[in-house]
Amino acid sequence: MTLPDLQQAEPIPATARAEIDALLTSADLFRYTAAKDAPVTLLEQEFAAMMGSAYALAVSSCSAALFLSLKALDLPENAKVLIPGFTFAAVPSAIIHAGCQPVLCEVGADYRIDMADFADRLPGVDAVIVSHMRGHTSDMDAIMALCDAAGTPVIEDAAHSLGTLWQGRRIGTIGKVGCFSFQSYKMINAGEGGILITDDPDLVARAVIMSGAYEHNWKKHAVLEAAFARWQNKVPLYNLRMSNLAAAVVRPQLPELPRRVASGLRNHNYVAARLRESDFVEVPCPLRGEVRAPDSIQFNLPDLTDAQVRAFADSATGAGIKVQVFGQSTDNARAFWNWEFLKDVPDLPRTRAMLMRACDVRLPVQLTKDQLDAVCEVLLGALAQVSAAHAA
Ligand SMILES: *Cc1c(COP(=O)(O)O)cnc(C)c1O
Repeated sequence: MTLPDLQQAEPIPATARAEIDALLTSADLFRYTAAKDAPVTLLEQEFAAMMGSAYALAVSSCSAALFLSLKALDLPENAKVLIPGFTFAAVPSAIIHAGCQPVLCEVGADYRIDMADFADRLPGVDAVIVSHMRGHTSDMDAIMALCDAAGTPVIEDAAHSLGTLWQGRRIGTIGKVGCFSFQSYKMINAGEGGILITDDPDLVARAVIMSGAYEHNWKKHAVLEAAFARWQNKVPLYNLRMSNLAAAVVRPQLPELPRRVASGLRNHNYVAARLRESDFVEVPCPLRGEVRAPDSIQFNLPDLTDAQVRAFADSATGAGIKVQVFGQSTDNARAFWNWEFLKDVPDLPRTRAMLMRACDVRLPVQLTKDQLDAVCEVLLGALAQVSAAHAA
């Protein structure tokens, strides 16, 4: 059995071609040229309806959506923004870009925010970004209770969590703003792209204008006119718009989402069950009330040494299945000690311990059962090699 290419995404639905052809012919690629019904506008309407949110704003990336969310919150200069110590470097970067300061909190061996540490660090913080890293949902009930009590706004970084449910609610709709990515490794692939959703008309009006709706282009957004009138000419233009071509690639993928989510979860649970046959593997369970939408698997090797974990990852990768250990691959963008652009990087011993033992393997949703078995054989074979050496 030849091993699957774990970097590959699903083909874009063929129905995208007609729309893209029409756009190439009309050359109408800018979202604000058409009087109405531009692909980006339609995407915003469809995405908001799918999520049950009042408003959506499509932009150039999830990082842009996070940046605009922070700017739209109108935080004080140098505002402190609490984030998990396990996230992608683009998240603290968006915070710095917005003129704010990231404050990091601990993440547990289950990849979720350590709630005791979160509660300790929340006082004095102006906003919170919850990164649902690799689609692992932190305890949103506990987070919202603490943040609501403190009056602290919550932005959900749901870049990699589209389709996840929390107590029956869609992830990204629980905080004040939810941000998603359409980068190629996420559940919907436009190469690049992002979108934010919110129910707050003033927040979205500010974000729309700052995203580049200069002059009266905001009239092409279905948002309360009064909110736009309040912010006209009051906020800068950062020009982070989405192009019609990207929207034409995203829109036909929206109806595919339920199938992708179901396949991703089934694939993940199948591989998790097989890996759990090994005494060395610990696959953290979802939280109560969390229904995941994974396109990758993370598992811990708690009883192996750093060198053994590295030997396992090297062996599997050498056999054709790329295993990344967040804390052990050189310059990894998800290891907080590599964020040297931050003024002071705190020590987060629990997060660090997790990152040194957590293995990451992509499981694109289109993999077949035979391909999943082939992936499992490589992973279990590499583990057997390392554990034989461990026993000796
Ligand atoms: C991918 C990702 C981002 C960044 O998304 P872009 O669209 O590439 O900017 C941010 N946060 C998380 C958790 C991600 O997985």
